[in-house]
Amino acid sequence: MKEKGLLIVLSGPSGVGKGTVRKEIFSQPDVKFEYSISMTTRAPRTGEVDGIDYFFKSREEFEQLIAEGKLLEYAEFVGNYYGTPVDYVRETLDAGRDIFLEIEVQGAQQVREKFPEGLFIFLAPPSLSELHSRILTRGTESDEVIKGRMEKARKEIEMMNLYDYVVENDEVEKACSRIQSIIVAEHCRRERVQHRYKKMLESD
Ligand code: 5GP
Repeated sequence: MKEKGLLIVLSGPSGVGKGTVRKEIFSQPDVKFEYSISMTTRAPRTGEVDGIDYFFKSREEFEQLIAEGKLLEYAEFVGNYYGTPVDYVRETLDAGRDIFLEIEVQGAQQVREKFPEGLFIFLAPPSLSELHSRILTRGTESDEVIKGRMEKARKEIEMMNLYDYVVENDEVEKACSRIQSIIVAEHCRRERVQHRYKKMLESD
């Protein structure tokens, strides 16, 4: 039986730069995984192409896809639906190729429930570590400002619970290379490779 591909999910808080990091990863010449193009009901932005950036759908079309069970996950984000077509994900994994999803956190949670064996990477804002050092050095911000930041930081840190890895998006290139390294390491995980060696012994 063919070995299945790896399901890779990149997620994190809104505004952290998931899209930028994902685009940078896929601009590399040697990417070895497929990108799962999402469906959305939001209008295309200038330069976005249907079938490349997203599959752009009407609300009716999207709700029909939900009803037919064609989405692996979906979420409503700032008044629009976003979702991952399930068939492409399954076909890619079954063909033994890795697939990469870049989605918001509610969707990532749904994928974790369906694919607990996936690789879940949380992209964290550099403001979390900045906040930490500012609190330590007691910066000039008022208590009120610090309190607001702490609350936001708490929520973001709590979101991490679901993930296997946390990558700080301090610099796009650095974040991308950490993500690439994590994927390479994941392929070497004992649980993923041991069965090959067992087979070798059995055929002896
Ligand atoms: P944007 O409108 O800026 O392209 O995307 C808005 C948010 O939707 C981003 O956080 C992006 O990661 C997320 N997103 C994109 N595609 C999907 C998807 O298929 N499912 C979910 N749950 N979120 C998505």
